[in-house]
Amino acid sequence: MTIPKHAPTLFPAQNNQLLIGGIPLTRLAQRLGKTPFYAYDRQLIIDRVTQLRQQMPADLKIHYALKANPMPAVVQLMAGLVDGFDVASTAEMHVALDTLMPSQYSSIAGPSKRRAELRSALAAGITINVESPNELETIAQLSAQSGITASVAIRINPAFELKTSGMKMGGGAKPFGIDEEQLPVVLQRLQALQLDFQGFHIYSGSQNLKAEALIETQQQSIALAMRLLEFCPNGIKTLNIGGGYGIPYFAGEQPLNTQQVGDALAIEMAKFKAVQPHAEVIIELGRYLVGEAGVYVCQVVDKKISRGHIYLVVDGGLHHHLAVSGNFGQVIRKNYPVAIGNKIHGEPQEIVTIVGCLCTPLDIIADKMRLPVAEIGDFVVVYQSGAYGLTASPNAFLSQPNAAEVLV
Ligand SMILES: *Cc1c(COP(=O)(O)O)cnc(C)c1O
Repeated sequence: MTIPKHAPTLFPAQNNQLLIGGIPLTRLAQRLGKTPFYAYDRQLIIDRVTQLRQQMPADLKIHYALKANPMPAVVQLMAGLVDGFDVASTAEMHVALDTLMPSQYSSIAGPSKRRAELRSALAAGITINVESPNELETIAQLSAQSGITASVAIRINPAFELKTSGMKMGGGAKPFGIDEEQLPVVLQRLQALQLDFQGFHIYSGSQNLKAEALIETQQQSIALAMRLLEFCPNGIKTLNIGGGYGIPYFAGEQPLNTQQVGDALAIEMAKFKAVQPHAEVIIELGRYLVGEAGVYVCQVVDKKISRGHIYLVVDGGLHHHLAVSGNFGQVIRKNYPVAIGNKIHGEPQEIVTIVGCLCTPLDIIADKMRLPVAEIGDFVVVYQSGAYGLTASPNAFLSQPNAAEVLV
């Protein structure tokens, strides 16, 4: 039996040190003047989007979901790489609007958009993904009051689901979107309202590494949209089929075969374009674009032995990186890929448990991992940390200082 290993990281090393944006880790730490920090590698993000574009159909639009990493510098970079943004709050919308991305290529989704948020989205001119029949009426009212015609897309909760997904967001009873079965009535109501109808948004789930499952969902999403055209006398302008492209986090996981997904999508898109030649097909991705391009770095504060077990105690923890501790939607805690960033290929090695600075047994960064022997002052690096890191963590928990962020 082979022992499962973590998929190789995209970050290079030189002189036994991790390089981030071409800068040795210890030098970057000096520049920032503090640990812990998140560092995102600009070139790795550019390479990722470039490669994905080569693998996907040429006329597919790729949008970035800010919730994966809303750092303004990252979003500014993304504005020049992708075709649009998906935001999940007014604050994210403002970050998106600060870039050169034209507002009509952004959309807002979320099941609880308050009136003030809808008013802002309306004024900004971004597309509002409608999540319920009530929300549709509210948008129509606000649109009439403000004299601004709202651009809307209907978010559909399909009858099918994305198989083998880390997080399912469609199929069955869900708080997201409008059930497929209700669409004929909702689309009829839409005809009576003064709204600029864009089309459909179908988001089925997240963190999927199985090309076959994603291909099946893409086929089903496009087929569903084509069936619903019957209720859209003027056709649709956009079809957002979601995403869900995952990245390998844990030992034994294989990277997603995006070439296979892109090839299959080209076939489905051709069928759709045959009936709606002017409509845009969109995918929206978060973690796939940024997740592998980021690391979380903290420093060893203490090393101790408890009943034969070696502990490295660091200055960071789950308040910055909830997911590494296993508390962000995971069923069983597994180790993220972790390295000693200033002793990348170090020998000898030993088995250690790395814990964070919070007084709770939940604050685990690595459990019984074989790593180069580390001492106080060395750097612990958590890979695959470019998405759902700092902003997906309980930063205020235990009132420890927050982490820095840098794009290099
Ligand atoms: C979370 C979410 C995304 C991004 O998911 P990733 O797994 O980061 O790609 C995209 N669209 C919607 C509607 C979402 O809720």
